[in-house]
Amino acid sequence: MGEVCWKWELCGIYKRSLMIPVSPRKLRAMYTVRKSIDIDFAHNIEGHRGACINIHGHTWKFEVDVSASSLDPEGFVVDFKRLKMDVLQPCHRLLDHSVAYGARIFSEVEGELTSMGKVFLASREKIHGAGLVVKEDREPWILEGARACFPGGMKVAVFPFSPTSERLAKWLYTLASSKLDDDRVTVACARIYETLVPVQSVAEYRP
Ligand SMILES: [Zn+2]
Repeated sequence: MGEVCWKWELCGIYKRSLMIPVSPRKLRAMYTVRKSIDIDFAHNIEGHRGACINIHGHTWKFEVDVSASSLDPEGFVVDFKRLKMDVLQPCHRLLDHSVAYGARIFSEVEGELTSMGKVFLASREKIHGAGLVVKEDREPWILEGARACFPGGMKVAVFPFSPTSERLAKWLYTLASSKLDDDRVTVACARIYETLVPVQSVAEYRP
């Protein structure tokens, strides 16, 4: 097995003493592909001293870099379609047109959200009359510890942490690594763009 000749590499943003084994093939990664998806959703930042205490929205960009030292038989680091279907599209399904909360805040406001959701959904009947059929994805599900749920019918994404860009970048990295990492391929980093114009605000997680 290749593991017997693995080197040890110092890792971590602050070069602390964490040591992990790194495959020699991965150390020489020469190819990198990058793919992103834009997602519209709202969030609030627990304890924020400024405007981000409010529920507010962004057009976010979720972006992943994937590296390899050699290509697969088709000539890819990884097929862009796989990156989209296994990583980016599930993020879009979880978050698009949702409100993202940390679990602690959500537990305190779930009742109010349920009341709001019922009022919002009932407005359809007032506008369109009874019998309106709307096909929507309302199945609760979990993606890398984040939970899609629907209090009163309103779409909410609940994370184990208050969803800042930095924490979402690490979450996206962990999700992408779990789906794509193997002996040849490694996820190099994940980026979360919180605003795109006029000036980009970006958080990156690179282990
Ligand atoms: Zn924000």
